[in-house]
Amino acid sequence: MDAADVGADFGRVLKTQAELDQRLEELAQQIDQDYAGRELLLVGVLKGAVMVMADLSRRLHSKVTMDWMAVSSYGSGTKSSGVVRILKDLDTDIHGRDVLIVEDVVDSGLTLSWLLANLRSRGARSVEVAAMLRKPAAAKVDVDVRYVGFDIPNEFVVGYGLDFAEHYRNLPFVGTLAPQAYE
Ligand code: 5GP
Ligand code: MG
Repeated sequence: MDAADVGADFGRVLKTQAELDQRLEELAQQIDQDYAGRELLLVGVLKGAVMVMADLSRRLHSKVTMDWMAVSSYGSGTKSSGVVRILKDLDTDIHGRDVLIVEDVVDSGLTLSWLLANLRSRGARSVEVAAMLRKPAAAKVDVDVRYVGFDIPNEFVVGYGLDFAEHYRNLPFVGTLAPQAYE
């Protein structure tokens, strides 16, 4: 899928595929260094983190396993509800494990701070976060994100896993929609 397929609803490109690729390579190198000699459990947050997980994990040389969680804090709209619900829990017992949460975007930070507390309470050896995008201006709580792809403006974005009403996840870049798309 590309911008032309989105048509008149398309806004603008914020991060190109090449920018995402290059940044992921840098993050992967950093993660490999930081976890050298340890086995990492990557926890992807469905559904948005699917692309980041696929692309980041394939760049890692470290031994990793993967698991997935689905939580809900957004409906089909564009505003954070602040309410977090587990829709799908981990299959893995994370006691004693080094866990890296893989996220698409940190917006208010509410989902992530809840998730961090939840996973830390399960007795993991460490729990850190890798997020492709972060919106500093939208932060409602302070969350320590160890690995950040890009800080972006406080706008609603789609693509690279991120949806609007379940669409546009398969755009290979991160972009915005035109105002009319929300009407
Ligand atoms: P937070 O709790 O930090 O406000 O955000 C929780 C979730 O809302 C994110 O993991 C993501 O799935 C979704 N979200 C936040 N900002 C955006 C955005 O700009 N676009 C899309 N498509 N989803 C977003
Ligand atoms: Mg997410």
